[in-house]
Amino acid sequence: MHELSMVMRLANTAEETAKQNDMKKVETITVGVGEMSTAIGEYLRKYFNQVKGKYERINEAALLLHDEKGEGLCNKCGTSFLLTENEGVCPVCGERDFKITKGKSITVLSIEGE
Ligand SMILES: [Zn+2]
Repeated sequence: MHELSMVMRLANTAEETAKQNDMKKVETITVGVGEMSTAIGEYLRKYFNQVKGKYERINEAALLLHDEKGEGLCNKCGTSFLLTENEGVCPVCGERDFKITKGKSITVLSIEGE
């Protein structure tokens, strides 16, 4: 279950960010979930609820999940394109040779609290 390690990293980042911003209680953590990350939102929430109690500042926070589209950069002609919409084929030259530039991971976008 790779979602668990993702959630641990996420929780550490959020806790650390709260600390740096002198935030005592975090209420919501907005997380970008990349389409290509293969993470399942339901599991992220479930694991987050299991681990958050170990943290001082995010122990009562809720996760807000925000879907991020996968984006690729064609290795042949350099075009950026949305992966799912184009089924992984460059719309300009028709190559399937690309580098994923967006939507590969899950990231903390913002945290809110006091
Ligand atoms: Zn191309």
